[in-house]
Amino acid sequence: MLGRTLRILSAAALILATSLAAVVTVAGPAAADGCYTWNRNLSQGANGDDVRQLQIRISGYPGNGAVLGLDGDFGPATKAALVRFQQAYGLGADGVAGPATYTKLYQLQDDDCTPVNFSYAELNRCNSTWAGGNVSAAQAKANALVSMWKLQAMRHALGDQPIRVTSGFRSVACNNAAGGSATSRHLYGDAVDLGAGPHTLCRMAQQARNHGFREILGPGYPGHSDHTHVAHKSSRFWSASQCGI
Ligand SMILES: [Zn+2]
Repeated sequence: MLGRTLRILSAAALILATSLAAVVTVAGPAAADGCYTWNRNLSQGANGDDVRQLQIRISGYPGNGAVLGLDGDFGPATKAALVRFQQAYGLGADGVAGPATYTKLYQLQDDDCTPVNFSYAELNRCNSTWAGGNVSAAQAKANALVSMWKLQAMRHALGDQPIRVTSGFRSVACNNAAGGSATSRHLYGDAVDLGAGPHTLCRMAQQARNHGFREILGPGYPGHSDHTHVAHKSSRFWSASQCGI
């Protein structure tokens, strides 16, 4: 009886110790991250996959009308984007990615590398595989990830109020069902439709110009009276005449 009680007590102690360890791990410094951990400071002239991982996460800070290349080369445009990111979060804006920048990025990303306020599920209500579009499933998902980081930047610029996603990736079948155009960027995974509330459709269309979206369609463009569409494409096409765009 005593032995059994002791076994139960020791099991309880083990569970408690494990819980405490988990709490300590979460509360500790962000030395490592469930998605991606940077192991060196990055500044102009650096290159590699760690630069590219940084570029994806600051892709929403290219400056008005610009798009940041995700090429793994830390050039002047990457530095300028990083400075804007640092300014947006009140960090020392030196254009060098170091511990303070990484700590903020770790706070902003989930373990699956999506930004904290957006999810893969939200960007794909068509299927669970990301297959059947105009690019491979992996590419469609990667494209959606970049769009989410751009939206995270836009969300922060709009006062950290929610941005409502009404449609993202579509397979050919889903796009046909939705009445989308045969050349729709939804087939590539990078298009996102945004619904009104708390921001107006025009406020989002206007703000999107600062966050790396080459395609912006909103009120005044045919078929876009009830949503604002943002996406990436090879050349700029912005049209939302009722919003002054
Ligand atoms: Zn759309």
